[in-house]
Amino acid sequence: MVHEDGLHCPKIFCDFCEKQIAESGNVVWLCDLEKDEQCATSILFAHKGCDKQYTSDGAFYLWQELDSFLFYLFNNSKIDFNKAKEHAKLLASF
Ligand SMILES: [Zn+2]
Repeated sequence: MVHEDGLHCPKIFCDFCEKQIAESGNVVWLCDLEKDEQCATSILFAHKGCDKQYTSDGAFYLWQELDSFLFYLFNNSKIDFNKAKEHAKLLASF
């Protein structure tokens, strides 16, 4: 969350260089199916290229484009888009 112009604005920052991610980026995670079949793991946000050194012994490195990740997250959250838009309008103006 970033405080700008009197508002608290949700933004995404790269977990590797700590700068804001705008437009394109990746979501990355490590998955070791031998330890966890569900691959329930934490994710990291990254600029494209900032995550090149991200590795771990025995785990698969996986990634997804940030735009599709956010779309799937929204869809999997079962949030009604129109209700969410109206709720956001109550909190801030665009
Ligand atoms: Zn970065």
